[in-house]
Amino acid sequence: MLINIDVHTHSIASGHGSAATIADMARAAAVRQLKALCITDHGPSTVGSAKESYFRGLKSVPRRRFGVQLYLGCEVNISDFTGHLDLSDEILSALDFNIASLHPQNIRPGTAAQNTSALIRAMENPYIHLIGHPDDEKYPLDYKALVEAARATHTLLELNRASLAPGGYRGDARSKDVLLLHWCAIFNQPVVLGSDSHGVDNIGKFRECLELIREVEFPEELVLNRNVEEMFRYCEAKK
Ligand SMILES: [Zn+2]
Ligand SMILES: [Zn+2]
Repeated sequence: MLINIDVHTHSIASGHGSAATIADMARAAAVRQLKALCITDHGPSTVGSAKESYFRGLKSVPRRRFGVQLYLGCEVNISDFTGHLDLSDEILSALDFNIASLHPQNIRPGTAAQNTSALIRAMENPYIHLIGHPDDEKYPLDYKALVEAARATHTLLELNRASLAPGGYRGDARSKDVLLLHWCAIFNQPVVLGSDSHGVDNIGKFRECLELIREVEFPEELVLNRNVEEMFRYCEAKK
């Protein structure tokens, strides 16, 4: 399967794990023969991450570098079970691609019903395109309800490399991803692969994700990283 876009990466603006600039990230994506790259730095409530003004300023950054199309946005933090986010709609609406995720630093894990409700409320936001790593063992989820809501709101769901790679810090993410893919196949819901690379090292690396997709015989046509236009068409339908 040919992967043309990495939908989840972090630059120096996330404040941890990397000193890579947007240009460094784009160059690495070009070397790995990606057509497009989403740079999704952590929202302002992550300790050390960029402030609101950084995300506002992204509008003046060139969107094509080294032959790679850039989609600049945010991995927004969900801060409560009603789906509050740490960037305003006004800022989110001006960005190209936004992920909403649950992180222990920002929200204490709840019951499966509470965690699922937080993600569903985030998906109802028209400027959230993707739910990041819905496979964290710390946040149990109702996968059937999650996938049904993703379908209804035209929101993408992520198969996250960092969760599956050796040394992953989201517990037994693999068994959660098997459930996620199971319900996505049943409801014809697309997924996208995100490396969650902090810096250049893991941009475009999806070995563990592709192995799992093959193993569970997940339909290739539901993996939207193969076709950048189709992926953004799916998100456009939110509006
Ligand atoms: Zn995350
Ligand atoms: Zn991330």
